[in-house]
Amino acid sequence: MTTGFVWHERYMWHDTGSHASFLPAGGMSPIQPHVHVEHEDTKRRFKNLLDVLGVTEQLTSLKPRMATEDDLARVHTRRYIQHIQALSEANGGDAGGDTPFAKGGYHIACLAAGGLLALVDAILDGEVDNGYALVRPPGHHAEPDTGYGFCIFNNVAVGIQYVREVRGVARVATIDWDVHHGNGTQNIFYDDPNVLTISLHQAGTYPPNSGKLEENGAGAGQGANINVNIPAGSGHAAYLYAMDTVVIPALHAFNPDFIFVSSGFDAGGFDPLARMMCDGETFRAMTKKVKAAAEGLCGGRLALVHEGGYSPAHVPFLGLAVVEALSGIHTGVIDPFAEAIAFHGGHELLPHQATAVHAAAELIKNIPTK
Ligand SMILES: [Zn+2]
Repeated sequence: MTTGFVWHERYMWHDTGSHASFLPAGGMSPIQPHVHVEHEDTKRRFKNLLDVLGVTEQLTSLKPRMATEDDLARVHTRRYIQHIQALSEANGGDAGGDTPFAKGGYHIACLAAGGLLALVDAILDGEVDNGYALVRPPGHHAEPDTGYGFCIFNNVAVGIQYVREVRGVARVATIDWDVHHGNGTQNIFYDDPNVLTISLHQAGTYPPNSGKLEENGAGAGQGANINVNIPAGSGHAAYLYAMDTVVIPALHAFNPDFIFVSSGFDAGGFDPLARMMCDGETFRAMTKKVKAAAEGLCGGRLALVHEGGYSPAHVPFLGLAVVEALSGIHTGVIDPFAEAIAFHGGHELLPHQATAVHAAAELIKNIPTK
């Protein structure tokens, strides 16, 4: 069993500039500059924890490559790609929808998308069984013609189109457990019957008016998009119920040849940009379930790519649990924040949470079959 791991120091050099959380700050504004919430620390500390525990050395390190313009153009318009190139050549700017980046940011965004491409190549070539791409900037909010929500290029969509168009993979499923709706990924594949997109997200959070239950795909892709709207305040029990009741049965109904996960950690109990209560054991259990489904359905072919997650203190432990479950490595370290999350109470499956999950489970019968 080998698990691939993609990382590059340059991911940490993606510069989101002077902000306070996600708000511009400074000058005559009343907001004192602080760090942008999409900051390198959440990811760097995740990598550091893997390093100090001796996990990284047990993984197969994979060198990211630069996604080419043609790789990006399977998802994005040439006009948008050229717009980002022009901003990047100048002094940076905003890719759209609150997505600041600095001079040269285009190249780091290409290295992020290309990190996932290196991982899927290694999986399809049998070099590794599965893997995690710890890339930055994230991708799942990016639309074909604009950046959105800190995402410049839609990394997971670039990966999906690559395995289908270049590597000959027919059917792909992608699960987005970032706490925000994977709007970009949904919209890119909305009428495609060969890509099942499932997003688990906090109901009504971000983007506004996005990710509703009724958004179930269109045309030939009718039924191939599922949004699980989990109520704010949910934690371990509700997430695992959603996995068991919707995600895993949906994967079996669809029968993919490759599974991707948009792995955000902002459903964690200490995240500043959402109101969920998941802990390391939640992410460990979700990963185990998806891994078992991949082994049963598609030879274990499973690629996780990093998305959001904004607690620098907590994310490393959520990420560690995912990497351990994926690789079978056991460090014995459990999420040290789990006890504090447990203080909040309300961790059992509550009726309104079950109702929300059942509504999404009704959509499984619509999934296009092979
Ligand atoms: Zn997010």
